Amino acid sequence: MRSDTLYFPLNKITENCYAITNEKLFGSNAAVIILHDSIFVFDSLYNINHSILFRKELDKFLLPIKYLLISHYHGDHIFGIKAFEDINKIASFKIFKNIEKRLKTDWSNFKLEQMAANDPKSEWLLDVKILIPEILFEDKIYIIERKFGDMHIEIYNTGGHTDCSCFAYFPEDRVIITGDLVFSYQFPYGGDITCNPDKWIKSLELMLSMDAETFIPRHGPVVGKSEVKKQLDFFINLKNEIISKLKKKKEYHAIICPDYYEFNEEYPELKNVSLKKWFDFYSKATYK
Ligand SMILES: [Zn+2]
Repeated sequence: MRSDTLYFPLNKITENCYAITNEKLFGSNAAVIILHDSIFVFDSLYNINHSILFRKELDKFLLPIKYLLISHYHGDHIFGIKAFEDINKIASFKIFKNIEKRLKTDWSNFKLEQMAANDPKSEWLLDVKILIPEILFEDKIYIIERKFGDMHIEIYNTGGHTDCSCFAYFPEDRVIITGDLVFSYQFPYGGDITCNPDKWIKSLELMLSMDAETFIPRHGPVVGKSEVKKQLDFFINLKNEIISKLKKKKEYHAIICPDYYEFNEEYPELKNVSLKKWFDFYSKATYK
C-alpha cells in the first residue's frame, strides 16, 4: 500500500521553498516557491503521471498556482507540462523557439508514438502534450508579489547547458533553483547542440556572486555554494585542458578529463558526448 503523500514527498528546503529530490524515482527534481498568495512552480516533471501527482500534492498549500517556469527545453523538464495546462507558463524566447522546432521534428505525434512503441516502459509518452508558454522574456524577468512587503523571484536566461537554460533566484530565502545549470555530485551533461561552456561558466559565476546559500538543482541533492564552486572549477580546468591540447594540435581523444566526479557507468555516453561537444566548441573559438 502506498499513499500519494508517501510516494510523493515534497521536502521543505527553506522557509518558503519545497522540492521533490528523489531523482532516481522521477528522473529529475522539482521545486516550488510559496509566495504570499500563490505558488510558483519550477519545471514540470518528466512523466505526466508523476506530474499529475505532483500537482495534487501542491493542493495542500491551499493557494493557487500562478506560474510554471520552463527552465529549458529538454524533455525531462517539459514532458509533464500537460498537468499544468491551466497555469501561466513562463519561458525565455529561446525556449519558445526550441519548442517550436522540436514539435516539428523529435516531438511530432509520429515520433512520440514511435518512442512509445519501442519501449514498453514509455507508453506514457502517448499522453504527452507539449504546450506553448504564454509569457516570454529575453534575458531576465521578475515576478513580484506585494503584501506586508515584497516577495520577488528573479529569473535569468543565461544559456550554458543549452542556449535557453534559466535559473531562478529567490532572495527572501537566499535560494537559487538552478535547473540543469548545476548537476550536484554528478558529471554535468553538456552534449546538447546548443550547449555553450563559456556561457555555462558565466552563469555559475553569476549564481556565486548572488546572496544565496542554498542551491536546488534539477539533478542531484540540494547543495551549498561549495558544490557550485566545484562545478565552476571543473569547467575552468577542463577548458584549460582542452585549449592546451588544441594548442598542441591534439585530437579530442587526448583530453584528460579533470577528476571531479564519480562517473555513472550507466550513462558512459553522457560524458563522451559532452567532452566531444566542448572540444568542438573550443576548436571553433579563437583560443588556439
Ligand atoms: Zn537539460
